[in-house]
Amino acid sequence: MENTRMPVSTKNPTVLQSQELHEYILKTSVYPREPNALKELRIATANHPMAFMGTAPDAGQLMTFLLKLVNPKKAIEIGVFTGYSLLLTALTIPDDGKITAIDINRKTYEIGLPVIKKAGVEHKIDFVESQALPFLNKLLEDPEKEGSFDFAFVDADKNNYWNYHQRLMKLIKVGGILMYDNTLWGGTVAWPEEDVPEAKRKWRLCAIEFNKLVSADTNVEISQVPLGDGITICRRIC
Ligand code: SAM
Ligand code: CA
Repeated sequence: MENTRMPVSTKNPTVLQSQELHEYILKTSVYPREPNALKELRIATANHPMAFMGTAPDAGQLMTFLLKLVNPKKAIEIGVFTGYSLLLTALTIPDDGKITAIDINRKTYEIGLPVIKKAGVEHKIDFVESQALPFLNKLLEDPEKEGSFDFAFVDADKNNYWNYHQRLMKLIKVGGILMYDNTLWGGTVAWPEEDVPEAKRKWRLCAIEFNKLVSADTNVEISQVPLGDGITICRRIC
């Protein structure tokens, strides 16, 4: 019998259970509207052995949409890789907007940097080479940073999502948006553990735990979007 549970084999993970449908969405609604700079960055990343880590273009399109609604002056991103989500944020926020972009690896950021420079948006980016958790703790030592960000995108070590959430909830203003990527972990969050490949079990449990905690957080409104690898969108309400 055909295994309908396996995620489809596109470059980026997706929880959509039909390759045809995913390709249809990409071809019809996403690729034709993807800015050239993002396309260029995606192509520059394509041969990287970890290219699958780049934000899925369909998820990126939703992120752009939300950014346009929020029009953030200050954004924060955890997990940059070669910069797909960072570049789309930089392209979307106002010219005097700033993104604090945190990653432990500057080398991968530098793969995308020429495209970011060519797009003329490098001045909006403060790249920080650091573990995210101590950096967030440092930001919180300054009371002026509390409630000073409008938008956060989290796409790094999944075992720290709840730790990030607790800190970001202090840094993001009431009404601000927090987006968490990969919260459905290839759909495995809904599988019986014995069906999940060994390599996916640890991060699946992290996603399950985070989803439970964030769902119970009455300080946010949430929407779990089954796009890309699953995105949880939160709006801080108090
Ligand atoms: N958003 C990126 C994009 O659109 O291409 C993809 C990010 S990739 C999935 C995850 C990134 O998180 C990697 O570049 C990795 O170096 C970084 N990372 C992993 N653990 C981290 C940590 N503890 N603190 C900061 N960055 C971390
Ligand atoms: Ca991701």
